[in-house]
Amino acid sequence: MQVYCRYLNDLMTSARQTYPLLNPHTREKILDIPDCSNEQMLQAIERSKYAYKEMRALSSEKRSQILDKISERIAELREEFARVITLESGKPIRYSRGEVDRTIQTFKFSAIEARKLEGESIRLDAAANGAGRDAYTIFQPIGVVGAITPFNFPLNLVAHKVGPALAVGNTIIVKPAEKAPLSAVKLLEVMNEVGLPPYAYQVITGDGPRLGAILIDHPDVAKISFTGSPKVGKQIKSRAGLKKVTLELGNNSAIYVDKSVEEKIAEIVKKAVEGAFSYNGQVCISTQRIYVDKRISKQFIRIFKEATELLQYGNPFDDDTNLSALIDENAQRRIISWVHEAIGGGATLISGGELLQYGMKPTILLNVPASMKVSCEEVFGPVVIINEVETAEEALVEMNNSDYGLNAGLFTYVLPQALRFAHELEVGQVLVNDIPTLRFDHMPYGGIKSSGYGYEGIKYAMREMVNMKFISLNYDF
Ligand code: NAD
Repeated sequence: MQVYCRYLNDLMTSARQTYPLLNPHTREKILDIPDCSNEQMLQAIERSKYAYKEMRALSSEKRSQILDKISERIAELREEFARVITLESGKPIRYSRGEVDRTIQTFKFSAIEARKLEGESIRLDAAANGAGRDAYTIFQPIGVVGAITPFNFPLNLVAHKVGPALAVGNTIIVKPAEKAPLSAVKLLEVMNEVGLPPYAYQVITGDGPRLGAILIDHPDVAKISFTGSPKVGKQIKSRAGLKKVTLELGNNSAIYVDKSVEEKIAEIVKKAVEGAFSYNGQVCISTQRIYVDKRISKQFIRIFKEATELLQYGNPFDDDTNLSALIDENAQRRIISWVHEAIGGGATLISGGELLQYGMKPTILLNVPASMKVSCEEVFGPVVIINEVETAEEALVEMNNSDYGLNAGLFTYVLPQALRFAHELEVGQVLVNDIPTLRFDHMPYGGIKSSGYGYEGIKYAMREMVNMKFISLNYDF
């Protein structure tokens, strides 16, 4: 029996009830998942607190070795993990393999950073009456971290919380997405083999609002690390009081393509089509809004349409599949209604605009008014808008005309323009000559406006999972 089945069976014995986990591609039941009870979450917190005593006593060398082993073991189980991701999320297998490869790196970076978390020395004699002291800072673990994760990267976004938490000596409880909990559970198989103290990593499956509230309210949980929708992120922040919180939320990512890169249009389109439609656009930094200089837009749109219509929709386990089922029927209904609203509001449909049995054709809309939901909200589906602009200034204004601020990209050979956009774009990350659908796992990654609060990217996540302590030694005493 698969390890995750055994673990889920164990949870099942005390769970309130179960719910059916559906395969997005067939909408058939994969397994019954325990909707864990409040008592199970409380017990997990108690166990985590106990495990923390052992965890915090480990040297950074030991923690680093454990993280290295986690990374190596996931590499050995690469195909198994990829298949679990595809099964539960409907992600085409090529992208699931990519997610596993990133997870291997996420733990590898965590192993490296575990050895490097260093404070600094402070010159106290720079202050009046400060002389005669040596002073420095150290970082200390905080204890139990509560992680709440989304369905779309069910392995790597768990790793982005687990790696940093273990690297600094914390313990962690993951409440994975109801729609895709298996990857987090399968990770237990690895954790049990690498010398990690028992219960340093735990998974509690089930209802988000109920189980999340226990993590948020419990005095023994020192931090909530959340990745998910802005709506839930805001609820968590307002409930968490003084508890440390990191929120990684949604976006309606934009790029600008200017005239100077005309000769590279085919290459840019290739990247942008990938950015718009990989995993059906169910990516927080999916390329959603494209602003193109009007002098090159006809050519851009023509190549974009051709490339989009070559994408293969199908079984996510087939190597050739680019697009597959959306996560559920609600997503299908919401997205198609937004497309209809945009067309009714004056946008031109260039391609797609139709639902498939469980998914949706990749959809391109031209010249969409900014007030339409496909522009101003996060679509989280296979829809991209292309708007023609007269000037770079117009593109910049439109890109910033958003409640969100995670990633943005632009393509230009004009250096002053690149620098101006880099400084003026209201986002956490600017990618010059790349699409916004780009994240390297060790880079700082966080949103402004409604896109987030705090940072991930191993080193940066670690800083949000520790307490800094200042120590002064008075040698003149
Ligand atoms: P979601 O917000 O519906 O759910 C995320 C998690 O929160 C789940 O585990 C869910 O059970 C839990 N949850 C739901 N209600 C809760 C509550 N009231 N209190 C506590 N927990 C609660 O998100 P989703 O649909 O799984 O994922 C899609 C969203 O995640 C998109 O908005 C996407 O942009 C965002 N996302 C952001 C990033 C990033 O790094 N910025 C990465 C991936 C996904």
